[in-house]
Order: sequence, then C-alpha cells, then structure tokens
Amino acid sequence: MSLTALSNICVVLVETTHPGNIGGVARAMKNMGLSDLRLVSPKRFPHDDAVWRAASAGEMLNTATVTETLAEAVADCGLVIGSSARDRRIPWPLLPPRQCAAQAVAEASTHKVALVFGREDRGLTNDELRACNLHVCIPSNPEYSSLNLAMAVQVISYECRVAALDNNEDISAMAEWDQPVATAEAMRQYFVHLEETLVEIGFLQPRAPKQLMTRLKRLYHRTRPDEMEMNILRGILTTTQQRLRKLAAEAAGTPDQAEND
Ligand code: SAH
Repeated sequence: MSLTALSNICVVLVETTHPGNIGGVARAMKNMGLSDLRLVSPKRFPHDDAVWRAASAGEMLNTATVTETLAEAVADCGLVIGSSARDRRIPWPLLPPRQCAAQAVAEASTHKVALVFGREDRGLTNDELRACNLHVCIPSNPEYSSLNLAMAVQVISYECRVAALDNNEDISAMAEWDQPVATAEAMRQYFVHLEETLVEIGFLQPRAPKQLMTRLKRLYHRTRPDEMEMNILRGILTTTQQRLRKLAAEAAGTPDQAEND
C-alpha cells in the first residue's frame, strides 16, 4: 500500500466558472486523500460558495495555488493527464479511469503527476489537451456524457485512491530510469524551440502549418523523453540554427559575424 504517492498527484482546474464547484472539488479530493489543488484563472475565487461546498475541506481552499496559465500550473509535473468527455479530431493516447489512475499512482512515486479538468461550459481547449501526455475519459452515457466538474474529479480521484491501496509494488515502467523524466515546462520550451527551428529550415510554413506541431507534440508526449534526452534534442536544434545562420551569413558575405554567432 502506498498512499503516500497521492501527495504527488495534483488536481488542476482550468478557468472554473462556479466557485461552488471548486469547493466540491476540494471536498472530493480530501475525501480521497489528495491535497494539491491548483486553480488556473478561476472566474470567482475566493468565494463563500466554495467554502460552503467544501464543508470540512475548507483548508484546501486556503492552500490551493492560483496561476494565470495551465503551463505555469503544471510546470513541475512529469506526467500530465487531461480529462475530457469528448473525442477530438486528432486522437491522443486515451485511457479509461482505472488504467489512468494506476499509471498516475505508479509514476507519482518518482515525479509529480497532474490531473487536469476543464471549464464547465466547454471543457479543455485543443491547445490545452495537446499539452497533456495522455487523456482520460469516464465512460458515461454517450447521450449525456459530460459530468459535473466536481463529480468528474470525484471519480478520477477515487480511482487513484483505489490504485494506491492496491499498489503493493512499484509498477512504473520508468521506476529504475537513470534520469528524471522531462517536466511539462521542459517539454513546452522544447516545442517552442522546435517550431522556431522548423520554420527557420523551411520545413514548417507558418501560414500553412497544417497539423504538423500537433502531430509532433503527440509523438514527443508519447515517448516521454527524460531530461538528458531533452538536452540532446535541444542541442540538435541549437546546432541546426547555428549552422543555418552561419551559412546564411556566409552567403551574404559576412562570415566574421557568423563566426561570432
Ligand atoms: N461541456 C464540456 C464538459 C465540461 S464538464 C465539454 O463538452 O467538454 C467539466 C470538466 O469535467 C471537463 O472539462 C472534464 O475535465 C471533466 N469531465 C466531465 N465529464 C467527463 C467525462 N465523461 N470524462 C472525463 N472527464 C469529464
């Protein structure tokens, strides 16, 4: 039994409209032994409705962190899981709640894991979903598939607790890894650098990007690079840019400037 893993699992709520739902989430989390609540630009917070719905989990509202962006909220996490009731155009690795919780709990023994939940009216944006390593979907009635936000958090955090209670051994496939897995922030910076380089070498047309970056993000999120691998990938991009700029400077007849680049 490793209930301690639960302390490395955070719940991230993106732009929640109703403060009552934030309170409901706090209660659901405390009932299941989760404590790290992160709020991304909540519409109204702090608020009495949140306190009322939180019941005896009120202190969770005081310790909740508030950030402006999802990127800031998950920056320190090595596994980011987005929860969504809907299928998206480009499929993403998708797990049912039980398997998702087993993976979250297993990985929480080595790094922070984020469970991300969307807005009451329109869920998570495509960009937000593309910032996740994998997605989780609660198999609900297809004719009315969208659960109340706090109910969705309840289901997933319950599964995490059951997985933690069941977990007698470390089943993470990366448990014996020699390097820490890259954080969400390292991945985000890599994507910015990759896009910039792909534009510079003329592989990505900024005016007709199609789904190139989405497909590349999916590829990298699926492979779960570690910190060392991320440094190598960043190094390849930096060298590519330097060589390209040197060639461009040489062609323009200013090699000295290129040497200093
Ligand atoms: N109407 C929105 C759903 C909002 S419900 C939509 O169509 O996307 C608020 C949040 O609860 C969702 O963003 C999601 O994170 C979670 N949620 C609700 N139902 C879910 C389900 N069946 N599976 C997984 N997450 C769900």
